[in-house]
Amino acid sequence: MNEDSGTLEERLSRVRSQVADAAVEAGRDPSAITTIVVTKFHPASLVRELAALGVTDVGENRQQDAGPKAAQLRDLALTWHFIGQLQSNKVRAVLEYASVVQSVDRASLVDALGAARIPLQVFLQLNLTDDPGRGGVAPDGLEQLAERVLASDALTLRGLMAVAPLGEEPRAAFARVREASERLRRVAPDADALSMGMSGDFREAVAEGATHLRIGTAITGNRPDAG
Ligand SMILES: *Cc1c(COP(=O)(O)O)cnc(C)c1O
Repeated sequence: MNEDSGTLEERLSRVRSQVADAAVEAGRDPSAITTIVVTKFHPASLVRELAALGVTDVGENRQQDAGPKAAQLRDLALTWHFIGQLQSNKVRAVLEYASVVQSVDRASLVDALGAARIPLQVFLQLNLTDDPGRGGVAPDGLEQLAERVLASDALTLRGLMAVAPLGEEPRAAFARVREASERLRRVAPDADALSMGMSGDFREAVAEGATHLRIGTAITGNRPDAG
């Protein structure tokens, strides 16, 4: 289907009802699922339109784009989720607007986030590939990284974030995240959130227990040039 079909409002309501249908089909309560609209590469004006349509949670993956956008939208009560690879030297800038960082994948980043002493919710990003360049902690490093977050007063560990790899059935990939979540909860019982599922695979993610979906193009339409 053409991602650009219809108006923003139509696409948003279509995705909302598809998410609700997927939840009901999985025997889940749709209100237990938060849809984060990924607005990367789109202008602040689009984020403002989304807020007027009732969107409360937005996701961005690059500080250099998100910072100026968030600064223009300070009057809105939005929750900004940072979902991209994050260098420790950008942490201060990201904490200006983000109340959630979903892409925490290494001890040095945990330390930088904690050192700011600003309350922050974090998700550990799980790498589902064998390529360390993809971002995310390898499954065998999960508990150790979790312990480090738990040791910080400023950080609240919410759960796991993951992107389904190309070339794997998304449902199988999300099942692996769910299994990792069971391991995580042995060291962090409250960290039960699962951020997984994007425009092309949110139904599979809901079926595997996603609590947070990160949906871009199905709602925003195709992204303008990445630049
Ligand atoms: C861009 C992005 C998304 C949204 O992708 P769509 O396919 O446009 O829905 C979700 N998660 C992450 C980490 C992203 O970078």
